[in-house]
Amino acid sequence: MARELAGTNNGHARRFNRRVVLEAIRVFGPISRAEIARRTALMFPTVSTIVAGFLEQDIVRTVGRARGSRGQPATLIALNGGAAFTYGLHLDRNQMRAVLVDLAGEVREQAVRWVAAPDAEQTVSAVEEMVEGLRANAAVSPDRIIGAGLTLPGPVDRETLRSAASPWRDFPLRDALQKRLGVPVWVERDAPAAALGERLHGDGRSVRDFFYINFSVGVGGGLILGGQPYGGANGYAGEIGHYPSVKDGRQCICGARGCLETYVSVGALMSELGIDGKPDQAARTLAQLAEARDPRLHAWAARSADVLAPALMAIENMLDVAVIFFGGYLPKALACDMIDLVKPALESMRMSGKKRHPELRLATSGADAAAMGAAVLPVFELLAPDPNLMLKRTENSAPAEPARSVLQL
Ligand SMILES: [Zn+2]
Repeated sequence: MARELAGTNNGHARRFNRRVVLEAIRVFGPISRAEIARRTALMFPTVSTIVAGFLEQDIVRTVGRARGSRGQPATLIALNGGAAFTYGLHLDRNQMRAVLVDLAGEVREQAVRWVAAPDAEQTVSAVEEMVEGLRANAAVSPDRIIGAGLTLPGPVDRETLRSAASPWRDFPLRDALQKRLGVPVWVERDAPAAALGERLHGDGRSVRDFFYINFSVGVGGGLILGGQPYGGANGYAGEIGHYPSVKDGRQCICGARGCLETYVSVGALMSELGIDGKPDQAARTLAQLAEARDPRLHAWAARSADVLAPALMAIENMLDVAVIFFGGYLPKALACDMIDLVKPALESMRMSGKKRHPELRLATSGADAAAMGAAVLPVFELLAPDPNLMLKRTENSAPAEPARSVLQL
């Protein structure tokens, strides 16, 4: 772990070191200065100076003293959650989710609205209303809000930041929201954002290489390699929903036939079971069927496991990740069912003599995962330092305005 967080004593990298120290405090806090120095391989005076700066900025706070150590007990440092807040917005084809998250990753307020393909203007107004409600309920001052993350169903074009699979494909949603909310807005595909949320706040904290499958109306995937998100050359890495699964199969919205998501997704499940009507009613119906352990769901999970297995095997063989998380808004029991059902199918495809393979695991944060991940976007670069970020920034991580000064590191 010390290696993962290793800082550098080189003067050019002061900014990076500050992020490394902040990351150590986030992951291991409450933590003493000496322990930070040990874990980051930075010199004690360097750590002390950085921590003093953080205390002055109110980003961290002292939370008592370490017990059991010899001599003067060391002061412990922890993130100050209330120092800064972000909004996480997840807009899908049938629902809008918003969360208000503090710097320590705690969800202070959340809201959901079920909508069927709203137009752009309605969407912007609804989002503004939702986040204002969250902020007022949590009694957070507007100047503590440092940004918002917005996730859209994939694929999302890296240059225009628009989602072809959304009702707002021809509308500059990011710019409009930035103007209305008065904070910088980051945009990401829903699945990679959910993966980021898992990495920063969920079980993914202790997993450096994982794939995250997001079962929503469609299906997407997000990839974390070496602890960092991997988007690919064009931002499409992980688009597992369009893995060709059934030859000459069902027509997909992407134009191809037989894509994975036309069989294994909440949208596919709903239409196979004939669940329709308003989005909130449909979601309730599905939850009730899952709770009653309806045999049709089990039958669907069994069929889905067969379609899903080759795609999972491709992930396993090409990426050799440690964990494949099942996330999104499939009912929990159904996702567990699917994990159990797909395991034997994978076993039959696996190279013989292989001692270790990816573990299939239920993701931590369920239906709010993409919104949680969205809330991470404005602070991820600050909280999870990657030396490469000192050299390059992606278009997507650089909104029109920088984050507010409360977190200028
Ligand atoms: Zn497709």
